[in-house]
Amino acid sequence: MKENKIPYKTYLDESEIPTKWYNVRADMKNKPAPLLNPGTHQPMKAEELAPVFCEELIAQELNNTDAYIDIPQEIQDFYKMYRPSPLIRAYFLEDALGTPAKIYYKFEGNNTSGSHKLNSAIAQAYYAKKQGLKGVTTETGAGQWGTALSMACSYFGLDCKVFMVKVSYEQKPFRREVMRTYGASVTPSPSMTTEIGKKILSEFPGTTGSLGCAISEAVEVATTNEGYRYVLGSVLNQVLLHQSIIGLETKTALDKLGEKADIIIGCAGGGSNLGGLIAPFMGQKLRGEADYRIIAVEPASCPSFTRGKYAYDFCDTGMVCPLAKMYTLGSGFIPSANHAGGLRYHGMSSILSQLYADGLMEATSVEQTSVFEAAEQFARVEGILPAPESSHAIRVAIDEALKCKETGEEKTIVFGLTGTGYFDMVAYEKYNDGEMSDYIPTDEEIAQSLANLPVVEE
Ligand SMILES: *Cc1c(COP(=O)(O)O)cnc(C)c1O
Repeated sequence: MKENKIPYKTYLDESEIPTKWYNVRADMKNKPAPLLNPGTHQPMKAEELAPVFCEELIAQELNNTDAYIDIPQEIQDFYKMYRPSPLIRAYFLEDALGTPAKIYYKFEGNNTSGSHKLNSAIAQAYYAKKQGLKGVTTETGAGQWGTALSMACSYFGLDCKVFMVKVSYEQKPFRREVMRTYGASVTPSPSMTTEIGKKILSEFPGTTGSLGCAISEAVEVATTNEGYRYVLGSVLNQVLLHQSIIGLETKTALDKLGEKADIIIGCAGGGSNLGGLIAPFMGQKLRGEADYRIIAVEPASCPSFTRGKYAYDFCDTGMVCPLAKMYTLGSGFIPSANHAGGLRYHGMSSILSQLYADGLMEATSVEQTSVFEAAEQFARVEGILPAPESSHAIRVAIDEALKCKETGEEKTIVFGLTGTGYFDMVAYEKYNDGEMSDYIPTDEEIAQSLANLPVVEE
């Protein structure tokens, strides 16, 4: 090891777990574009969102002004079950790479759901319970969000109906059973239990589903059953707000160590972990107090930032949700079978989209096989078996550390390790057997999908 003075793991005390979330929108000069009513193209008002979302969460969604929002005591108590999460100095990886760079990662996989998604699931379940609802509906792709929400709902005694993208439902039976163990009902999507599901199945018989379809089904069930609302595990402003706990803890730990990050890296599906990790650092950047290089990493098979268009689009396939302005590949874009299920969404958080459009962060895309190479290298020296999603960030962290090796620069690199990959063994198997491929969409395919964007005058 290069040095022994700084600990391998930095855990904060329980008393240092944040008691407020940080809302980066308050410090943004250019606010993220508002959600629009898909019919009138006017900004959605709280009352229009109320049939779909919980009241308090709508208030958070629309709040562009309060920099700090109190975390209710019940949520703080739950956070203590698995937080603070460690900030780990990747000494072993640094040695293996022979880099002068310092690499830190914030590990969010230390809970049963295996990812950062529990940070928002527990908040959303709490507000649903507080509103006196019977239950919530949602979609899940790879299953991490559904699992996190199932855990949160069982804690508060809420019913939880999960629509799981059919291909994952079939490929990941163990995820499904974890959700059922926590009391959730899990339906493969598209299903015959909803009108939109029936419609999609009649148009595309045999389809293995997509996140966009599952969202449409979950929203339909929430709006047609009394006492139910819909909850979403990424993309929305409220989710980034809850995930700011990741960045706040990271910043406190770095400050304690006397470290300042040069580069902050995170994978980006809908943008929630990255938005949460970077929140307080971006806040400093926006206020002119500090500068950081911030890099979003996405799969080459679903490159919303790097090849998408910044425009209003539908959030779901059934076009029932509000329109969001974001970097998008078009709501009809069905990415090829990338094993990082959590990164297959066609759009991106409106907050991150605006920050990216304003040049405050960068984005890059990486190919699947190189991601698994990085995952394997990381697992062998650092011990943790990373989720394929998280491994996108590992790939770029390694690449940046190797650049430092060439230049001799001692940069400090911080990345988000969002979760563990125990349920992704089919993907690892493909990689180990040398059967992994990465389909990269052609310009024509993306252009074709973008041709169907709604026409919105701004
Ligand atoms: C869902 C998920 C992601 C991607 O979602 P974001 O909202 O972009 O953070 C990344 N990593 C893991 C482990 C996930 O479960």
